[in-house]
Amino acid sequence: MDKQWLNIKNKADQTYIKGVDDFLEWAHSQPGVYGMIRCPCNQCMNKKFKHRNKVRKDLLKKGFWESYTV
Ligand SMILES: [Zn+2]
Repeated sequence: MDKQWLNIKNKADQTYIKGVDDFLEWAHSQPGVYGMIRCPCNQCMNKKFKHRNKVRKDLLKKGFWESYTV
């Protein structure tokens, strides 16, 4: 997966928004995912399980957890 868009600081940027949607699409295509995924946003830091639309909202508002890209 191309992660260049993770470096975009402007969360209203179309490329960032598309990246978030692509990520959600990818995350939900993983085996064992039934509606909830770990939220990789700055606040949840992959510790909380959330529904897709809530994760999307988190990512567009708070951004990705920085360590997530490592
Ligand atoms: Zn979150």
